[in-house]
Amino acid sequence: MKTLVFATNNQHKLQEVRQILGDRFEIKGLSDIGCDVDIPETADTLEGNAMQKAKYVKEHYGLDCFADDTGLECTALDGAPGIRSARYAGENHDSEANMRKLLENLKEKSDRSAQFRTVIALLYQGEEHLFEGVVRGGIITEHKGTQGFGYDPIFVPEGYNTTFAEMTAEEKNSISHRGRAVAKLAAFLAGK
Ligand code: IMP
Repeated sequence: MKTLVFATNNQHKLQEVRQILGDRFEIKGLSDIGCDVDIPETADTLEGNAMQKAKYVKEHYGLDCFADDTGLECTALDGAPGIRSARYAGENHDSEANMRKLLENLKEKSDRSAQFRTVIALLYQGEEHLFEGVVRGGIITEHKGTQGFGYDPIFVPEGYNTTFAEMTAEEKNSISHRGRAVAKLAAFLAGK
């Protein structure tokens, strides 16, 4: 079985990807290869950050690898919080504070449309590949639901009346930005 590193420490993401790719690839997380550094993400795009993480693993460990980066992009805020989604309200990655800041910044805006966008960068057999997953929707004015994480309680995907935080994990994964990007990665790897 071929080994592929997923440059993440998030066990939930690892489990999700192993369910999809696990019968053909041995998917290792960063802790499985002994990597405990905070890999730099200093690019100014999701694509740049994802590729930076994948290249770090390839350079330091010599293993084929993929990495993801996600942002919530609001139309009325010119794509913010975007690459700053995790740290929108400060360095301590506080989801409540991030949502509060976003709701405040959208208060006077009539256009509340937004999208989650995930980019996966893959380094495979000497080649670079990018896969994108997008889910469009809108930001509501108050929190609804308790599932999920991040901005889930204020994001309603297009065609639905519920937030991501009111959906089961299966429901969310079947339409989410990350689910769609992983499906594209899986389709590519199916032919390998
Ligand atoms: P990451 O690149 O997956 O670490 O995502 C960056 C940030 O985007 C997270 O810290 C969250 O604030 C936000 N985010 C990413 N994916 C989701 C999601 O599925 N729901 C809600 N927020 C998310």
